[in-house]
Amino acid sequence: MVENPFSCESCSDNDAVFWVYERYEAADGVGAVEEEAPLCRECIEGVGPNHLEKAYANYEFRIDPVAEAFGMSTVRRSDEDSREE
Ligand SMILES: [Zn+2]
Repeated sequence: MVENPFSCESCSDNDAVFWVYERYEAADGVGAVEEEAPLCRECIEGVGPNHLEKAYANYEFRIDPVAEAFGMSTVRRSDEDSREE
């Protein structure tokens, strides 16, 4: 069994099962804000987009599985937003 290193950011009692990711336009209109939080099965209930009023052309809201919660290892994805730092 793979060890799950992520605990829920909301209750911190349970292992995280999902990543909630949202990317929206920064308040000053320059650049974007990215938020990502690991949540457990209970805390994911009712979670949805929080910043639709700041949506822009590259807005994104996504829920991804925590790979470890499903017996896999997380492969850090760098597909689309590569090297933005
Ligand atoms: Zn939780």
